[in-house]
Amino acid sequence: MALADAVMAHNYHPLPVVIAEAKDVWVTDVEGRRLLDCLAGYSALNFGHGHPALLAAAHEQLDRATLTSRAFHNDRLAPFCEALARLVGKDQVLPMNTGAEAVETAIKVARKWAYDVKGVPAGRAKIIVAAENFHGRTTTIVSFSTDPVARDGFGPYTPGFETVPYGDLAALEAAVDDDTAAVLIEPIQGEAGVIIPPEGYLPGVRELCTRRRVLFVADEIQSGLGRTGETFACAHEGVVPDMYILGKALGGGIVPVSAVVADRDVLGVIQPGNHGSTFGGNPLAAAVGHAVVRLLETGEYQQRATQLGSRLRERLDQLVGHGVVAVRSRGLWAGVDIDPELMSGREASEQLLDRGVLVKDTHGSTIRIAPPLSIEAEQVDWLVDQLADVLEAAGATRTQ
Ligand SMILES: *Cc1c(COP(=O)(O)O)cnc(C)c1O
Repeated sequence: MALADAVMAHNYHPLPVVIAEAKDVWVTDVEGRRLLDCLAGYSALNFGHGHPALLAAAHEQLDRATLTSRAFHNDRLAPFCEALARLVGKDQVLPMNTGAEAVETAIKVARKWAYDVKGVPAGRAKIIVAAENFHGRTTTIVSFSTDPVARDGFGPYTPGFETVPYGDLAALEAAVDDDTAAVLIEPIQGEAGVIIPPEGYLPGVRELCTRRRVLFVADEIQSGLGRTGETFACAHEGVVPDMYILGKALGGGIVPVSAVVADRDVLGVIQPGNHGSTFGGNPLAAAVGHAVVRLLETGEYQQRATQLGSRLRERLDQLVGHGVVAVRSRGLWAGVDIDPELMSGREASEQLLDRGVLVKDTHGSTIRIAPPLSIEAEQVDWLVDQLADVLEAAGATRTQ
């Protein structure tokens, strides 16, 4: 099977597998091999491939109406926004498509809020971000990336951002000034390798933002919607940010759906013409997004992520010292640092692929494990067994 590398721009370096079909936690490649999907589209597939309720919502909507533009109302958007706002516990939703667009939206809202509400002098609004962040790929977003691969060669860069170390409250406090509009962070840094900030950091950010009248903007695009065992990762520390940025799983693995969700005193700064998207809030996206919200309202997926996540963690912890250097996880989301003496994260991913497990490396020696939340306990055990076998074959000592 040709991988058609010659006609595709090389903006990705995919693993050597060509997927043809997918159902729930399994994908089938063009040679008929079945593989356990432990990446789940970077959490866009939290409910698995082809969840019946999500497919039914999409099928039904395909036959009704798919695109109206926001020049008119459609009968799917308001019910979706109402349900999502209720799930989040905020007043308003601004729907977009991709995650990066939602991040851009949050940046615009934060800046306008700073000028219109906080009274920051024109052109001076500052947004504080964290080192090792990942918020997407647009020119403005890569302007405040600290990853040279993502950033270098794409200047001139958008000004107005200041970077502080992630998890360092004192550094954040020192960076906040009268022109600060917002702090934009991931409550858990996904691309950086599932980095969980020290306990007390998120509540500290909340307290600081409230005290200095700064918006706390949480990018929950990857961490949110059940992945960590709560609807939002911020909830593990009882924290409610001012703005949630959502995406990935919101589209049910079917269509791109993203959103910014906040209270009226924040999102209300956006007036007609300030912002928009031809596809944002289209009826197909709204129907699928609404079905996603219904799945999350039951709490079943959050509970699965908690229970199966603790099983995954227990099993992965047994590999520490046996080819694994460290494990970080919350819910069904784990960053596993492979002993770099044994192999790179890329090599581990390739060897897991040969054993029927799809994962993706990030940052050198780390692999990220994030299966659909519908994964079963035996499948969790099986995937960790495959990793143990890969490590043992590379020379790691066997676990007891
Ligand atoms: C994936 C991701 C984005 C970007 O989403 P796209 O849909 O790829 O544009 C932004 N922030 C976080 C935390 C992400 O994981």
